Amino acid sequence: MAKHEHPVAAFGWAARDSSGHLSPFNFSRRATGENDVTFKVLYCGICHSDLHSIRNEWGGSTYPMVPGHEVVGVVTEVGSKVTKFKVGDKVGVGCLVGSCRSCESCANDLENYCPDTIATYNSKYNDGTTTHGGYSNIMVADEHFVVAIPDSLPLDGAAPLLCAGITVYSPLRYYGLDKPGLHVGVVGLGGLGHMAVKFAKAMGLKVTVISTSPSKKQEAIERLGADSFLDSRDQEDMQSANGTMDGIIDTVSAIHPLQPLLGLLKSNGKLVMVGAPSKPLQLPAFSLLMGRKALGGSLIGGLKETQEMINFASEHSIVSDIEVIPMDYVNKAMERLARADVRYRFVIDIENSLKIAA
Ligand SMILES: [Zn+2]
Ligand SMILES: [Zn+2]
Repeated sequence: MAKHEHPVAAFGWAARDSSGHLSPFNFSRRATGENDVTFKVLYCGICHSDLHSIRNEWGGSTYPMVPGHEVVGVVTEVGSKVTKFKVGDKVGVGCLVGSCRSCESCANDLENYCPDTIATYNSKYNDGTTTHGGYSNIMVADEHFVVAIPDSLPLDGAAPLLCAGITVYSPLRYYGLDKPGLHVGVVGLGGLGHMAVKFAKAMGLKVTVISTSPSKKQEAIERLGADSFLDSRDQEDMQSANGTMDGIIDTVSAIHPLQPLLGLLKSNGKLVMVGAPSKPLQLPAFSLLMGRKALGGSLIGGLKETQEMINFASEHSIVSDIEVIPMDYVNKAMERLARADVRYRFVIDIENSLKIAA
């Protein structure tokens, strides 16, 4: 049925059940509408959300599901009312392909906080058909949800900017942690954390990586340019840095104590969660009261800010550190991602390795 939902034949890899196993899948895309941009997918990043979603670890997964929300490619067709893009442009689609376009959040370029967002996969378009993501050969989206990728950015390394990049860029800006000279901590050195280090350094911040893996100290400092490193399991190490940070971006999605992190903040410091642990975290209120500290959260970013982030990345030559893989390696990649065995993002070479079934 899915194959014939829409007029344009599409092909990708889908999960069929909560085993999360991905395999070839024929489906369909809508024809290019008057406000739509259709593009040939060249690369798609593998986000940790893809893994959670295909295995139904957050609940709400529907199958078959073609994951992928770090999608980049080249425009093949544009609708008659499209003004921002033309055939041949390099473009990307991130976590969203739709929103209500009329609520307060949408009016303020914060489509990410619209109550009626349409996610790039595992969601429904307004006509009731299923959205499918970028582990596929073609993509179509309203131009409002498409961003331009400047020629200076390599497309493979740029793909993860569309989720991992904006997820850490937006809170640095919103919480005022973007002023040169401020000291920011980054908790966790994975797909999100390594991007946070790069953006924070480009903004002129002093950056300390906070991790449970002391083995990451060298790469944090030498490879990513962090100024210092804290082993979060080393009490002396943590104590020595108490009261030194203006803000912390916490990317960890495993259960972890917040009190030691709040202790690292100066008065008026902000701890911002961008990871999503599956169970509630313990928060002793006194650790907020002392020093008037704030705990906040942030979820991806709006489309205007996503384009701003891409342009900033282009100016500062920021891309994700990636391991490019062929499509048929994806199940193995998911196993490795589950044990954090990747530096720091897998990106699927869709153009050269997605073999379309006859
Ligand atoms: Zn993501
Ligand atoms: Zn809205």
